[in-house]
Amino acid sequence: MKTWSEVGEIQPLASKIITNSIKKDRISHAYLLHGARGTGKEAIAVLLAKVLFCTNRSGVDPCLECNACRRIESGNHPDVHFLEPDGQSIKKEQIEHLQKEFAYSGMESSQKVYIIKGADTLTVNAANRILKFLEEPSRKTTAIMMTENSQSIIPTIRSRCQIIDLQPLNPKAFQQKLMDSGIQRQSAILLSAMTNNLDDAIALNGDEWFAQARKLMIQLVEMVSKKPDEVFLFIHNQWMPHFKDRDQHEQGLDLLLLAFKDILYFHIGKEEAMVTLDKDDEKAESFGMVFSQERLLRILHTLLDAKRKIKQNVNPTLVMEQLTVQIQR
Ligand SMILES: [Zn+2]
Repeated sequence: MKTWSEVGEIQPLASKIITNSIKKDRISHAYLLHGARGTGKEAIAVLLAKVLFCTNRSGVDPCLECNACRRIESGNHPDVHFLEPDGQSIKKEQIEHLQKEFAYSGMESSQKVYIIKGADTLTVNAANRILKFLEEPSRKTTAIMMTENSQSIIPTIRSRCQIIDLQPLNPKAFQQKLMDSGIQRQSAILLSAMTNNLDDAIALNGDEWFAQARKLMIQLVEMVSKKPDEVFLFIHNQWMPHFKDRDQHEQGLDLLLLAFKDILYFHIGKEEAMVTLDKDDEKAESFGMVFSQERLLRILHTLLDAKRKIKQNVNPTLVMEQLTVQIQR
């Protein structure tokens, strides 16, 4: 999304609010962009930064060609800084480091922009540090913070930001977009359940790792239903070597969640909601016979719990072993 009218196609309200403030030359000192993954938070942040620095702006849109626009695009403009969690949180030291850099580069009075990803992970000290910085009247500083969860932002920060709520994308429209770019229907349905970012979805679709992950997901469900005694071995020999880092483990668990949800949908006659299995696939029926609704609900609960543990950095092998024991019950 390189212009505000492109932003307006998926986020009409956000585009309108921001372009109005650009026109009136009343850009806020702090924005909080709130929305799920893939709703365009980062693209909006970068576009706004370009508006602030572009030397050849036409109307509300940056030119995208001047030195400032190009440097922001490539992530190396001296006055635009990107911050993201270092581990679990954004720490005070990260903010201090940034402020030192700002002090060295350029004039005190020159414009600075912070773009902060995962703003809900700011520690209280880090947040206070930013607030102080924002409130110094001599500075022209703009903070553009992004979060998927605005309720976790501390109130002192929230109250000083203009909050922009981004709308979730419509899954049917998204699936259509995927099919328009040449992705098969069944894959488009699954991908739209995994992500709502078009580029991510297209990348996943062409990704061999993901194709193999899908196969392993089905194999694991089959093992649980037919050869429960061998599941443990399967996890060790097949699953663990394929899913390496935390992101991959989360994706693996997401796939399993979708698969078990599908079996539940099959049970309750909501076949149209299925994303990993085709309703006419005989697997759907055979899985439906093995798993009772009660057991499926228990498995879904266990999978969510496993996902939470992965997020909290619990050792993935341990998480998967516990998961295997629990879903066999
Ligand atoms: Zn420009």
